[in-house]
Amino acid sequence: MKKSEFSFIDDIAKTFGALPHNGFEPIGDDCTVLDMGADALVISTDMLVEDVHFLRGASTAEEVGYKSLMVNLSDVAAMGATPTAVLLSLSLSEATQGEWVEGFMRGFYEGCKSYGVALVGGDTTASRDKVCINVVAIGRAPKANIKRRSAAKVGDVVCVTGRLGISSKGLVDIMFGDLDTAAAKAHRRAQARIVEGRWLGECEAVHAMMDVSDGVASDIKHIMEQSGVGAEIELTKIPADYDIRYATTGGEDYELLLTVAAERFDEVAEALYRDTGTTLTAIGVITADRELRWLENGVPSELELRGFTHF
Ligand code: ADP
Ligand code: MG
Repeated sequence: MKKSEFSFIDDIAKTFGALPHNGFEPIGDDCTVLDMGADALVISTDMLVEDVHFLRGASTAEEVGYKSLMVNLSDVAAMGATPTAVLLSLSLSEATQGEWVEGFMRGFYEGCKSYGVALVGGDTTASRDKVCINVVAIGRAPKANIKRRSAAKVGDVVCVTGRLGISSKGLVDIMFGDLDTAAAKAHRRAQARIVEGRWLGECEAVHAMMDVSDGVASDIKHIMEQSGVGAEIELTKIPADYDIRYATTGGEDYELLLTVAAERFDEVAEALYRDTGTTLTAIGVITADRELRWLENGVPSELELRGFTHF
């Protein structure tokens, strides 16, 4: 029988979790962590498939290259680490082996150059039909800075960087043929919170952190499960410019979702804004009962909200 994406991952995490970990943290966070003494290395991988993650007709090759890097650096930032190196594997259809891949590499290069990330390996193959891109991202941070999904505490403020829902509204615009709305442009040119991730990593008041790749409705559940807690989210507080469903259930925002010690929240938000220009908005609170509750002006919401899953 076909399984859901999450139960498939849960099953392999269980089976392979029984094997030796060899010093690496097991499946379950944005990156695995390897203790290096004073510092830790963080490592993760993400794949982008043509017609699933991008449409060649709707994004330029440069945009796909830049985005392929950013979605991977986002997972490093989500650990509170600084991205240092990537490996890039490409499976290229006949139609993309010339000009297209050159454009792709220009976009990828631009991102690597902007953030001082080294490209240190990969693989190149032909593909019969669609382009497939896989990146392994490696980052580094002082061990004490690493932020895990498992560190949320009851009473913490749940908060997000930036604004949510823009990317998924952009995807809808693109589907309707509107490639140049502000949201469509934001969707095509993903931007990871690299500077903010490192900044928040240095901040002791930040407890759990992850990136928002599948929508808060789905992503908050990872923090709840890993931390053994619940959450109450106030829909009217979510920083959204479009329908609230984009902001809660739409994917690919690449903002950071984190929990902060309640008494420190105001100070952290103010300092983050002062140092990076990025807003941090409180959207809810961590609770003890392991349930996820959506409120609208303090009253339980009727909306059915579920994040994105591949299957
Ligand atoms: P993210 O959105 O940060 O990439 P996911 O929610 O996709 O994370 O995955 C959850 C966890 O499962 C992560 O720790 C990820 O590394 C792991 N994971 C996902 N797919 C696989 C797989 N095929 N094999 C091993 N680990 C996987
Ligand atoms: Mg992630």
